[in-house]
Amino acid sequence: MKFIVVTGGVLSGLGKGVVTSSLAKLFMARGYRVAPIKFDGYLNVDAGTMNPIRHGEVFVLDDGTECDMDLGNYERFTGIKMSRPNNPTGGKIFELVLNKERKGEYLGVDVQFIPHVTGEIKEWVTNVGNKANADIVLIEVGGTVGDIENAYFIEAMRQLKRSEDVLFLHVTLVPKLAVVGEQKTKPTQQSVKELQRMGVQPDFILCRCDDPLDSKVRDKLALFCNVPLDHIISDHDCESIYQVPFVLEGENLADKILEEFGLGKGHLTLLEWENLVSSVVNPEKEITVGITGKYTALKDSYVSIMESLLHAGAHLKTKVHLKWVETTDIEEGRVSVEDALKGVKGIIVPGGFGSRGTEGKIACVKYARENNMPYLGLCYGFQMAVIEYARNKCGLPEANSTEISPNTPHPVISIIPGKGGDLGGTMRLGAYDAKLSPGSRVAKLYGHDLVSERHRHRYEVNPDYIERVEAGELKFSGRSPDGVFMEFLEIPSHKFFIGTQAHPEFKSALEKPAPLFYGFVEACACD
Ligand code: GLN
Repeated sequence: MKFIVVTGGVLSGLGKGVVTSSLAKLFMARGYRVAPIKFDGYLNVDAGTMNPIRHGEVFVLDDGTECDMDLGNYERFTGIKMSRPNNPTGGKIFELVLNKERKGEYLGVDVQFIPHVTGEIKEWVTNVGNKANADIVLIEVGGTVGDIENAYFIEAMRQLKRSEDVLFLHVTLVPKLAVVGEQKTKPTQQSVKELQRMGVQPDFILCRCDDPLDSKVRDKLALFCNVPLDHIISDHDCESIYQVPFVLEGENLADKILEEFGLGKGHLTLLEWENLVSSVVNPEKEITVGITGKYTALKDSYVSIMESLLHAGAHLKTKVHLKWVETTDIEEGRVSVEDALKGVKGIIVPGGFGSRGTEGKIACVKYARENNMPYLGLCYGFQMAVIEYARNKCGLPEANSTEISPNTPHPVISIIPGKGGDLGGTMRLGAYDAKLSPGSRVAKLYGHDLVSERHRHRYEVNPDYIERVEAGELKFSGRSPDGVFMEFLEIPSHKFFIGTQAHPEFKSALEKPAPLFYGFVEACACD
């Protein structure tokens, strides 16, 4: 088993996750088995308690782990399903060490960063690799070299290299100053020095830059950073993140790494990927869809939805533009629904929490339902569709969710005692099965009657109202196998009106788009 450790220098947001995912893809395309791991230095045990405005989307895995959105990239690029061990955090590591200490498992010695914490980390990454039977374990170290949060992790990786085959890849920035028009190497030199101070000599340096790396700059970096010239890699900007494997392939990075490891180069098969990427970059059609949300300030909060639309669009040769709809503006009368949805072919109401903007979301659902405009409701958007339908078609004008209005006379969405989560308690998290009604639109889209999707919510459709809601045209076309939870809804006569209590956006990949997104984009694209 070989290990690749990806560190970041100079600043965050250089796309270490995309580099790690792309390399994983390139090794897989050569027939190797890979296991990606993301280390996050924060002391949270998981990302569940983090505010998406600050941290970006909370990604959910099949096993219910709430984690960093980089794990989403790993899955979207490789199709390998991640689980809790793929995302060690500072919190998880210390929890492990402290629990062992309390049980007396350290045999009375004083518990230290070295060797105890670093020892647990080495064991952790090795276990993940062994369990996946991986040829190559790719370990992305969150944060930037020089941060106190990841120092002990990098130290663990330094130690790992003493006994295992480990290569260090350092991703840094090579900025170009507009006035001088020259690519500058100093930030990279300094961040490499920072790594060297920790006892780590990078084997490869990946330079993020606007334009391909200048040959003089390569020479200089090789000399100053003590790296062979052909190990300085240009990781220049491209139109789509899905082109990054080709950028790295253009630099022969995967083959150079395999050579260092003494592994055979294998035969690269990326044809389907290449076709999909070419339809991302050169679409035949362009459409705009609306997304409502209160986290519109940070598009990272909806990254999986944006990627799912891109995946579906790639298969339909359609580029999907987004129009962000701030529903508090609708709710507070600053803009009409018609104006807010002008120019959009369809609308998505995504997941959310709390009452802010919900009346505006409900107004959008009503508009879509009444105007035969494609509608896709995800989690909260599913709940909004039930509320809207109950209010306007079932004679329950005060229908609401108890999350929004605890004393509503018609709690069509509520907590099912003993079944869903409790406030302050756990949410329904991770993969759950649903049985789809045979012949329904959702069953046709999935091509199966039994499907599994990921969940992250507390509230559910209240069973007391199912019959009344279904008296009209809206049908719950997917339910949990025991029949307790409503999982999918649709209005069969509508152009496309579908909602799901789940988050299908967490399982979409470029090569395997989520069926509901495919159906939605297809409906939006046909005139
Ligand atoms: N707030 C809703 C609930 O807890 C929906 C959650 C979500 O959209 N992820 O049930």
